[in-house]
Amino acid sequence: MCKIPRATSYQLQATPDAPLLGSLYLYLSERCNLRCRHCWVAPPPPGAGTEKLVDFAVLTEAVIRAKELGLGTVKLTGGEPFLRGDILALLRFLQLEDLIVDIESNGTMIDADMARVIGECGVRQVSISLDAARADQHDRLRGSPGAHALAVEALRLLGAEGVARQVIMSLYEENVAEIEPLAALCDDLGVPSLKINPIMPTGRGKMVFQRGENVAIEELIRIDRWIDGELNGEYKTDISLSMPIGLKSLERITGAPLYECHILNILGILADGTVSLCGIGQTETELNMGNIATDDIREIWRRHPILRRLREDIPSRLAGVCGRCIFKYRCLGACRACAYAADGDLGSPFFMCREAEHKNLFPPSRLYDAPGIEKCHFEEREPTRMSFRRSEATEKS
Ligand code: SF4
Ligand code: SF4
Repeated sequence: MCKIPRATSYQLQATPDAPLLGSLYLYLSERCNLRCRHCWVAPPPPGAGTEKLVDFAVLTEAVIRAKELGLGTVKLTGGEPFLRGDILALLRFLQLEDLIVDIESNGTMIDADMARVIGECGVRQVSISLDAARADQHDRLRGSPGAHALAVEALRLLGAEGVARQVIMSLYEENVAEIEPLAALCDDLGVPSLKINPIMPTGRGKMVFQRGENVAIEELIRIDRWIDGELNGEYKTDISLSMPIGLKSLERITGAPLYECHILNILGILADGTVSLCGIGQTETELNMGNIATDDIREIWRRHPILRRLREDIPSRLAGVCGRCIFKYRCLGACRACAYAADGDLGSPFFMCREAEHKNLFPPSRLYDAPGIEKCHFEEREPTRMSFRRSEATEKS
């Protein structure tokens, strides 16, 4: 009989009661100038209503406090982060604090001056959304004519400043044929990384699934093997499809970095200063844990019941295929925000692996209860009682 260690024993601890807070995700604006068909936060356009932005001084103080918890990396995202007017001052502050900074943007607001400052501030990587090599297809999916030209120009300008770049492609059924042309475009632009994200069934993405515009799991697995087996060898750009470890080829599992949820080591700060697990708090408000304008981020990280519960339950109380998966201690059930948005339960199985299991496509050898495999004994609690559920939040509020 093999013995599996307790769930959190491998987590680096910041204090006896809390793991390290490795990354802060700063959602700098609730607004966006694009209307992407799949957007998981579905932000209103700039100028719609009044947007309450947390004060610069409050935000920077929270970052300084978070450094006491181990903070090393800050991701600037949104909505569209460049809609926040003082983003350049924030970049300079983060550089002075010696933090690693990554940015995710739709690329439409990065002009030559902005690219120069990003370069000067030593940003580690800027990820720009680009869904096709064909401008008309990208603009249609992003709901804005001219978005493609601006994003490509941003990639050029950032490259000229020596900034590390990544292209993020959101994958629908209708742009599968654009994977290879986009890889070629990335090669031409000297972009080292193309990350392909299948649409998630959250926010506007739910409608994408309802209309059947998403890529089915069997097709995703085929694309994944094609990318790793053929496409990657043909381009200098590294191409990867975001799929949970359990669905990856054996070669990829032992090689490159994989799609893993870092939910136990991250915290999100929304545009108005609300603290949440990540951007999920923009739509699932019961997961919010206070506001940096009134609450100490260190106390939230150490003591908030949602985080304490999460540390207890993930991954030991993951349900369904995730609960039986041999990779759960590494994968943590892929994206927990997506699981919550879809099922109202932070412990529910990740939709891709659930679909794969229903279609008999999940490799049985990657499950603890696979036939012919010695039954493992877990030093943990019953996996049937789920972690934080939407119904519990509603009952408490
Ligand atoms: S996916 Fe990104 S770029 Fe598109 S609407 Fe949402 S926040 Fe804006
Ligand atoms: S079954 Fe769950 S834990 Fe296993 S690889 Fe898939 S998402 Fe990750």
